Amino acid sequence: MPIDATLPYDDSNIFARILRGELLSKTVYEDEYALAFHDINPQAPLHILVIPKGAYVSWDDFSERGSDAEIAGFVRAVGLVARDQGLVAPGYRLLANVGLDSHQEIPHLHVHIFAGQKLGPMLAR
Ligand code: 5GP
Repeated sequence: MPIDATLPYDDSNIFARILRGELLSKTVYEDEYALAFHDINPQAPLHILVIPKGAYVSWDDFSERGSDAEIAGFVRAVGLVARDQGLVAPGYRLLANVGLDSHQEIPHLHVHIFAGQKLGPMLAR
């Protein structure tokens, strides 16, 4: 079910539980501001999710309430993961769903990194 990204943060969401260590994930990278792990249902040969450690519902929420340090730390982490995975030369796609029309399912901000093949058009036609 897609979520309404204007709703308040819900501490019981799956990514909050991963951050608390209650659920396992295949970690790719972790620092003070971000955690990156493999998507459980990959949509490309490489499909990584990067999430901020803070409790933010969406990109909208994060860009409004996140501190400068959190935002810089998170954005740098996304770039670092892509470089560490060797994705800059072949290329990759970043995607962050926000709310109902985008079909965001987990109400904790996550940036998808897709790579490993030609990724096709940006949107389904
Ligand atoms: P959204 O549609 O909200 O942008 O993306 C949610 C993503 O989270 C989906 O790609 C889905 O496969 C992934 N996902 C859902 N549950 C889990 C889980 O328990 N572990 C991991 N690693 N990924 C999950």
